Amino acid sequence: MSDWQTLLQQVEDCTLCPLYQGATHKVPGQGDPNAPLMIIGEGPGQVEDEEGLAFVGPAGQLLTRMLSAINLPRDRVYICNIVKCRPPQNRVPTEEEAAACKTHLREQFRLVRPKLILLLGSTAARQTIGPEIRITRDRGTFFCKAGVLMLPTYHPSALLRDPAKKREAWEDMKALRSKLMELGLYEDIYGPYENE
Ligand code: SF4
Repeated sequence: MSDWQTLLQQVEDCTLCPLYQGATHKVPGQGDPNAPLMIIGEGPGQVEDEEGLAFVGPAGQLLTRMLSAINLPRDRVYICNIVKCRPPQNRVPTEEEAAACKTHLREQFRLVRPKLILLLGSTAARQTIGPEIRITRDRGTFFCKAGVLMLPTYHPSALLRDPAKKREAWEDMKALRSKLMELGLYEDIYGPYENE
């Protein structure tokens, strides 16, 4: 069994925290396993739980448009969440749930080996960079953790609730695009950039 198959089976069989009890489907994540850009959100919502895929509901559709706006095809990034099972009523995962599920996230880091990580929302940013992160203060700033650059921004569901935040989110997407270009990752991997 390949490392990826092992990971998917471990998530499928996982009972490390109570969230598996309410899950219709586990949502391990999907995308390009060799992507230099990894995107991490909080946890599956209703549509994701029904389909077993990350970011396929309304917030996911907005994420796809955000990536398209900087000319990144969604299938060329790897997308996953801090927790792989839907928390009841989409509540924020507890510290214990997030800690338990990092077993799988760490394995995803090891397999994908991303150069850049886009962190969607407070939970993803705090669980990945550190508890001191405040999304409204720290979004748009690159952090280096374990040799990997990480950029926190708003979660697309926050943008759906408060469209006024979209202007800042667009600035963050442009910063992401610039960093990919600076690192020489943009054109080689995603094709020539076309002006918006
Ligand atoms: S959320 Fe993660 S740790 Fe908890 S049961 Fe699901 S896969 Fe396991």
